[in-house]
Parts: sequence; C-alpha cells; structure tokens
Amino acid sequence: MDTIKKKDIRALTKEQLREFFVANGDKAFRGNQVYEWLWQKGAHSFEEMTNVSKETRDMLENNFVINHIKVDVMQRSNDGTIKNAVRLHDDLVVESVLIPTKTRSTACVSSQVGCSLDCKFCATSRLKRMRNLNPDEIYDQVVAIDNESRLYFNRPLSNIVFMGMGEPLMNYNNVLKAIDKITSPEGLGMSPKRIVVSTSGVPKMIRKMADDEVKFKLAVSLHSAIDEIRTSIMPFNANFTLTDLRQSLQYWYAKTKSRITYEYVIWKGINDSQKDVDALVDFCKFAPSKVNLIEYNPIDDGEFQQASNAAIDMYVNTLEQHNIAVTVRRSRGKDIDAACGQLANKA
Ligand code: SF4
Repeated sequence: MDTIKKKDIRALTKEQLREFFVANGDKAFRGNQVYEWLWQKGAHSFEEMTNVSKETRDMLENNFVINHIKVDVMQRSNDGTIKNAVRLHDDLVVESVLIPTKTRSTACVSSQVGCSLDCKFCATSRLKRMRNLNPDEIYDQVVAIDNESRLYFNRPLSNIVFMGMGEPLMNYNNVLKAIDKITSPEGLGMSPKRIVVSTSGVPKMIRKMADDEVKFKLAVSLHSAIDEIRTSIMPFNANFTLTDLRQSLQYWYAKTKSRITYEYVIWKGINDSQKDVDALVDFCKFAPSKVNLIEYNPIDDGEFQQASNAAIDMYVNTLEQHNIAVTVRRSRGKDIDAACGQLANKA
C-alpha cells in the first residue's frame, strides 16, 4: 500500500512551510516560493514548480499532496449563468455558480458538502451533511469561477457570495481562512467589501464575526419575521429565535457599522399577507438594513409556490413607504438548477 496518508500541503501556513524547508536542510525562502505556486499561481502539481529543483519537487511529492478540486461538469444556462459540479479529493461533489450581469461576475460558492440545517424550501437540505469544506476547496471554487469569467466574459470575478451549499457559519473557521486567501495579495487580492457571507442566522456566530471585526458583508436569509412562520419553514429557528437573531444583528451593527441585507422569498399562502410585511418592517427597524426580495425557484411541486405579483408589489410598496431599501431579484440559471435553493448535485 503506497497510499500512506500524505498531508495536504495547502493546510500549512506560509510560516509552517518555511519551517518545513529549514527542518529539511533548505532555506526558509524556498517556503515562500512554494507558497506562491500553491496560492497565487494555483499549481495543481509539484511538477509545475519550475523554479525549485527536481530534488525538492520529489521531496515534496513524497511528503505532501495538493488536493485540488476538479470541475467535473460545467453547465451553461440560456441566460449565461454557469454551474460547476466540483469533485473533491474524496470523490464528494459540491456545486458553485457564476452569475454574470452586464457589469459584474458574481461567484456563488459552497461551504459544506450537504447541509445540517433543514430549510424546507431548499434542495440542499435533502442532502445529508457529509463534511465541511477545507479552506483550499472553497478557494479553488472561486479560482475556477474567476477563470471561467475571464474566459467567457473577458473580465475577472467581481463579487463573491457564500450562498451555495451549506451554512457558512457552521464552517466558520474554514470560511474565514478561505476569505483571508481570497483577499490576500498572495491570493486573489479581492476586496472584502465584494464578499457577502449569507447565513440562515446563527446568533452566536454573528456575534463572533462582529468580535472578529470581519470586513466582508453580512446577509441573512430571513424569509419571515414571525417566529411561528419562520420555524415552520426553517425548523432550526425554534432554537435560534428571532429575538436572539435580532439582538445578534444589533450587536453586529454596533460593532461593524455595516448594513445588513435580508434575503427574503415570498411564498403563496405562507408569508404573502400584510401582517408578514408589517413584521418585516418592524424587524428592519432594529439595525440599518436593506431587503432583497428573491424570486422563488420551485424544487418540486410541493407546498412552496411563488407568490403573486400583487403580493410582491405589496411588499415593495410597504417597505418603500417606511424608507427601507428594497430590490426584487429575478432568478438566474433556473434551467440548469443553478438558482438559489436549487443546488443539489443533480448534474
Ligand atoms: S437554505 Fe442554506 S442553510 Fe438552509 S438548508 Fe439550504 S443550504 Fe442549508
């Protein structure tokens, strides 16, 4: 058996790589060179590291692996949206999406294989949570989409949303490490202001993010500001009630001064009445925020159906009357199951 477990080299920090080379009789600087190959140049193999000797490359080969992701299937939607089915080193698969508009290329990336939460309207919730993604697996999804954006749209990636498979705050440390790499000049050098972490609302972790003074933006999938209704569509809300969530968001704003975005889908017969929008207006008063009303993407013929245009208009008008910023977001990539809530490894 020559498959003795080699270590994933990208789990090492730059300092640890430098120490590795010193411990093996080489110069610390060699660690910098290899680190640059791994992160800035995105090397998939040690062979590519042409400015280090063959001997060093062999030594790395004997000690480490580069667990690069592989885009197994790429699907293109009629509207230009691209969905990648991404195979991980242990053969599990996650999905990520490139959403192009006239001026932007946005990557929607996954943070977990499956999800431990159980939002009733979401296809991912039907997949068992298998494991968290490593920082390099999150980073690789972004690099793959950046390459596709350059290839098909002649521009680099402009924005990233953590809105793919999984709850990013349940894999907080790895998401943070991935964002560090994405924003570092030694990685992709992107501004944290162009990154949105979208959570279903885990109050303890929202407080932690505020304490960590993160620089990226926060979005919360709210979908209802009434506990009873929210719990019926997002059962974990029974443990993290809206009062807890609200207090954590007030804490977030007090610490970061960063406005919160509420993602909100309106479903027929579930949250499409005036009392639903009134509760949302009240919730928005606790901290500066804006609301994204998102068109629903059916995942089957079940209980969730897109609300009427009249209900959407009622939401927009009421929010605007209260000076709350609101946008209505049309779905993208529906024909390839790449839209919000549709990611479920069907490719
Ligand atoms: S909506 Fe997000 S948090 Fe909820 S089940 Fe789907 S992936 Fe998980």
